[in-house]
Amino acid sequence: MSRESAKDKPRAAQPRAAILGGGWAGFAAALALARSGWHITLHEAAREPGGRARGMDLDTPQGPLRVDNGQHILIGAYTESLRLMREVGVDPERALHRQPMALPYADGSGLRFPDWPAPLDALAGIATARGWSLGERAALLARAVRWRLAGFRCAPQATVADLCAGLPQRLVSEFIDPLCISALNTPIHLASGTVFLRVLRDALFSGRGGSHFLVPRRDLGGLFPAPAAQWLQERGHAVRLGSRVAELQPQGPHWTLGAAQAEDAPFDAVLLACPAPEAARLALTAAGHDSLPARDGIALQRWAQLAQDLQHRPIATVYAQTGDPSHALPPGAPWLALRATPDAPAQFVFDRGQLGGPQGLMAFVISDSASDRETLQAQVLAQARAQLGWHGLVALRTVIDKRATFACLPQLQRPGMELGHGLWACGDHVDGPYPATIEGAVRSGLQAAEAIGQALGAGGKA
Ligand SMILES: Cc1cc2nc3c(=O)[nH]c(=O)nc-3n(C[C@H](O)[C@H](O)[C@H](O)COP(=O)(O)OP(=O)(O)OC[C@H]3O[C@@H](n4cnc5c(N)ncnc54)[C@H](O)[C@@H]3O)c2cc1C
Repeated sequence: MSRESAKDKPRAAQPRAAILGGGWAGFAAALALARSGWHITLHEAAREPGGRARGMDLDTPQGPLRVDNGQHILIGAYTESLRLMREVGVDPERALHRQPMALPYADGSGLRFPDWPAPLDALAGIATARGWSLGERAALLARAVRWRLAGFRCAPQATVADLCAGLPQRLVSEFIDPLCISALNTPIHLASGTVFLRVLRDALFSGRGGSHFLVPRRDLGGLFPAPAAQWLQERGHAVRLGSRVAELQPQGPHWTLGAAQAEDAPFDAVLLACPAPEAARLALTAAGHDSLPARDGIALQRWAQLAQDLQHRPIATVYAQTGDPSHALPPGAPWLALRATPDAPAQFVFDRGQLGGPQGLMAFVISDSASDRETLQAQVLAQARAQLGWHGLVALRTVIDKRATFACLPQLQRPGMELGHGLWACGDHVDGPYPATIEGAVRSGLQAAEAIGQALGAGGKA
């Protein structure tokens, strides 16, 4: 069956897909499959769509506030995420604050790219970085040119620290460290050089604006997952929130989801769009089933093992309120890089007052955070006093996601997209060139939808 003929089929004859997980990957896949003629049933365990990039309510003395489960930053090179936002009626230019890449520090030092075509913006930004000596700027330019000449490729076993060997320490701590931790959520001595270079290449060479930083001005759920859910429902698809799927049961060439989620079954394809540990658990519920051919069961077990082997790293966000109106970031500079140490762990602070939120609301980001909530909160408040001179800052809430991203290590073996027997997977952890990011998740969802459409015939196995 071609994709066109699937579109023309009456509803009862449409191929049916169950998507388990309503994060950015699951909704990206749902939209693409729905557009090519599939009937979608999407189950999301939480009551709120969006997964690790979702909105949440924050209690404040002034009443509830809509914020994110964690402060996120996107870049201009996230072209598929931006395209999908438009597809569901969100204008990224209004919903996101866009600004050329900048890593400014409180003392005025740091990097600021001009709004020029790539890669001139990067070259000019490095050449004019404040606080770095001429020798330091020349060293970074020379290294960037060397990476470019090597096609942004390196030995597969190289870490980011290996790539930066010989660079002045200040460049490493003020540029490479914060860039690597925010893009890969893995410290440079562990992080994959290959993935880091890929991110740099996409940011610096994907066209004008690719390196721009885009910071949400509305909650992450409202950027794509919630409007995507509405888009699907308006077209007759089923989006079931608060519906955690417990098991998968093969039924001949099809699948069912167990008694609690019997609606719309059987399915021609099931797409595991949940995080790796849960996808592995679900694959194993299917693997042991008597009616599954033994070789398919073994393939599912192998896939589950790879998914279980991934290590994860946390990210924390401390939301805090300044009491003094003078304690704000300079107008037009909604974020600052902070000098992070083990005792002063925040790498960035975002002034939510400049990003559509109330004045004085700050979000401190601690990627790869190691401490418990109380320690972290106390450390961040002390860091704000010491580095920003903000006394009287009140912590409102600290959100820690212990499994924010997979650890992006060199030569990491990530589970693939196809599990066999009509079972598929998507998500930021699924094999691909990107680290765990919104764009990685979205592209994985789109790729899985494309592969399902190509592999499965008119509601059955090809
Ligand atoms: C604090 C934090 C900060 C981050 N910062 C950035 C950033 O600045 N930039 C960036 O690009 N990325 C960032 N990321 C990473 C980004 O959020 C993720 O890569 C992306 O959201 C992953 O999307 P996903 O769809 O693959 O998975 P998820 O978002 O995890 O979605 C999976 C969904 O499956 C659901 N689910 C689980 N089990 C079941 C089940 N049995 N049945 C039904 N549903 C189930 C879950 O509830 C979840 O909603 C950050 C992540 C965190 C946590």
